[in-house]
Parts: sequence; C-alpha cells; structure tokens
Amino acid sequence: MKNGVMMQYFEWNLPNDGNLWKQLKDDAKHLSEIGVTAVWIPPAYKADEQKDEGYATYDLYDLGEFDQKNTIRTKYGTKEELKSMINELHKYEISVYLDAVMNHKSWGDYTEKVMVKEVDPNQRNRAISKEFEIQAWTGYDFPGRNNKYSDFKWHSYHFSGTDYDDASKRSGIFRILGENKYWSEGVDDENGNYDFLLGNDLDLDHPEVVKELNRWGVWVANELNLDGMRLDAIKHMKDIFVKDFLVAVRAERGNDFYAVGEYWNGDLDTLDKYLDKVDHSIDLFDVPLHFNLYEASEKGKDYDLQNLLNNALAISHSDCAVTFVDNHDSQAGSSLESQVKDWFKPMAYGLIFLMENGYPCLFYGDYYSIDGKESPHKLIIEILLQARQKYAYGEQQDYFTHPSIAGFVRLGDKEHEDSGLAFLISNGEDGSKIMNVGENRKGEVWHDFTGSIKDEVTIDEKGNGNFLVKGGNLAVWVKK
Ligand code: CA
Repeated sequence: MKNGVMMQYFEWNLPNDGNLWKQLKDDAKHLSEIGVTAVWIPPAYKADEQKDEGYATYDLYDLGEFDQKNTIRTKYGTKEELKSMINELHKYEISVYLDAVMNHKSWGDYTEKVMVKEVDPNQRNRAISKEFEIQAWTGYDFPGRNNKYSDFKWHSYHFSGTDYDDASKRSGIFRILGENKYWSEGVDDENGNYDFLLGNDLDLDHPEVVKELNRWGVWVANELNLDGMRLDAIKHMKDIFVKDFLVAVRAERGNDFYAVGEYWNGDLDTLDKYLDKVDHSIDLFDVPLHFNLYEASEKGKDYDLQNLLNNALAISHSDCAVTFVDNHDSQAGSSLESQVKDWFKPMAYGLIFLMENGYPCLFYGDYYSIDGKESPHKLIIEILLQARQKYAYGEQQDYFTHPSIAGFVRLGDKEHEDSGLAFLISNGEDGSKIMNVGENRKGEVWHDFTGSIKDEVTIDEKGNGNFLVKGGNLAVWVKK
C-alpha cells in the first residue's frame, strides 16, 4: 500500500490570471514524483466575479464555459483547461477532489420581494424585528447558460436566509419566512443556530433544493470524472443532507468516491457527534490537531509537547481524519486565521506525514508560495514526503513523555524493505531520547534523513537507539 498524500492546490491570494488549471496540468508529473497522490482543487464554477476564489458561488453548472458575470473563465481557467488538467493528473494516478460549495450562493440575477424577520447575529433564533418585506437578490435564471445541463431556477423560497435588503440598502441576517420554513436542524449550535453563514443560504429542507443539489453532485462527478469532493462549510449545513448527498453521488460513482468535510471546530466532541450523525460517511479535517500545532508554534519552548496530540481527531478516529498544518482559511489574513509559525512548520509536517494515523494534506502555500512569496519549506517538505513513502510504515509507538522533546517510532513492515523510522522534535534545546525500534534492528546504523545531524546511531542488542535532535528542529532517523 502506498502512503497517500493529498495536496490542497491553491491558496487565498493566487493571481486572477486564469492559469491555475494549466499550471496544475504541467505540474502533474512533478507532483507524482514527490509523492502526492490526490489533489484538492478549489471551487471550479462561476462565482460572483471573475477574481473570486470560488466560494461566493453563483452557478454550480458553469465550470468556466458560459459568458456569465462578465467572464467565461473562472479565476482558475476554462472548463476545457479544467478537464484537460484532470485527465493529466489521472495519467499519473493522482486523484482529483473538487471543492463543493453547497451551503450558500452569492447574489442572483434579479431581486425578489421577500417576507423576512431580521435576527440577532449572535443568536439566530432570536428575531429582532417584526416580519417585513425586503428586496433580496434571490432570483437566478442563469441567462448565459440558457438551461444547458439544468433548467432549475432559484427563487427566494429555495433559501432560508439572506444578508442584504436592496430596498433599504442595508445588510443584516434576514430569515426568510414561509410555511414550515426555519433554519435547518443538524447544524452547529454556535450563535444559537449556525445554518446561516453568508450570501443566500440554501434551504436544505426544501425538497427541490435537495433534489437539484444531488443531481448536480452526480452530474459534476461524471462530467469531470472526479474521484472525490471536499465539502465546504458543512457545519452550516443540515447533517443529514450531507449524508444523503454522498449516498446519491456514490450510487453513481461507486463507494470509493472520496469525501472530506470542512467542519471548522476545534472541539473533538463536536466532530465525534457529527461523524456519528453522518454514519462516518465522510472524513473531517483534523481541526483540533491544527489548533495544537498553531498553539505549539505560538508558545515556542513554553509549550508542553506531551499535549501535541491531545484531542486530535486522528487519534480517536484515525480512518476519518485528514490531518493538515494550514489551509486557505487559516493562512494569515484569512477568515479563520491561525497560521502555524514558520519555525514549527517542518516539525508539523514531519508529524502529519510520518505518523500512522490520518490522511495528510499538504498546503500549496507551504510548498510553493503565498501571494507570490516563495515558501522556505519546499525542500524539507520534499524530504519528508520521501521519508513518508520509503519509511513511514508499520506500527507506531509514541514517546510523548517530555515537555520539550517528543516523537515516535514506526516499526516498519515486511512489504517495504528497511522501512521504519524514529521521529523526534524539540521545541527547546538540543537533546536526545532513547527509543526502541525493535530487536530485529540490532547492529544497524541509522542516520538522520533530514541531514540536520551528522552523527550516526547504532541500534543496540535490545533494539534501542539514543536518537538526537537539534533544538527547535526535527530529526527523522532511518537505516543508513
Ligand atoms: Ca446553511
């Protein structure tokens, strides 16, 4: 079995040059060489304007094909370039996961008169107005697409809330009224009910909406020959919808159609409950682990490394956890800013690439660049990816027993000759730790694969090695 690695192939500040699909196509061979086995691509459909990252979704069926919102291409390119890129990735057996934004849409083609109640942003179950009429941008007929692929037209009754009244030119959270209409159940309970995030919030209790989204999911997976999806903003979406959506898409694409959801919550208990609600049909990003990495990077030597894996989803639900260091939302300047500091990034990537649990995700910004500024981590990431492919196999034994030096060993397996490793990080001084890599390794000479330490270690009779690590650094010990 190959050790899979997903790469998030975008960051927030990419230029609006329509070049990403072409760039990714040209990069396919290289990605496969460094050990990337799947790519998460950004929302590939028409947003409210060309330069939008894709999360302000306008038309899910316009993959850069129609003249809508004053552009044919999206920020990332045209539909033809998108398809060609996916074909190329598949040639190198790299899977493609599309970012699916089904919680909300940006404003539509025309306004409608809509009866609403305004709600308290901090307590969405509390109305702060009587019912009144607004002019909302909730009408969509997608004139540029002219019914191709779908003749579904969106109206105010397909949404549960909206954020702008064009009559009074005023923003707010306006809950749309209607028979049996309310915020959905099965969403995060922050702010009372976190169904509404922004824009026009899709009413996932409306049967026409559910049907149309399921139809789109099957269509886009077939049209682009997708291997999976990354579902955006699922804590704002009715949980049962997500489960049923995946059933619908997998009925067409097979049960191995991959899915990971963005449930941005650092509380393990909340994620546990969610996984139960959706029958573990979707992986979740390991947000609790991300926050540990962030905190460790902020506190420096004052962080107790014994806590590094506390509450990590990868520990409690190993087969449902996508581990990551940073992403387009956590990067500096983004909405959920919590960027892991540079000094700690090599250690963080060492941890997620080499540990047994979790499906690691490499962030474009950490490998290539952010806002055109080259990442300092490219080389160490390549070394760690190589270590993952060659050595990160077999059972893991943890050594999280010291506040400033921690690590684990992987015992290796029979399928991968000479596999197994000893991983150490230090957030304080230079140091060492005696770790056992197995009696069967006695007499072997091991070295640090990252090259930060020149000394070698000979494994003793009992399988122990006294492994070294530099302060504020990581070491990956493997058989020489
Ligand atoms: Ca919602």
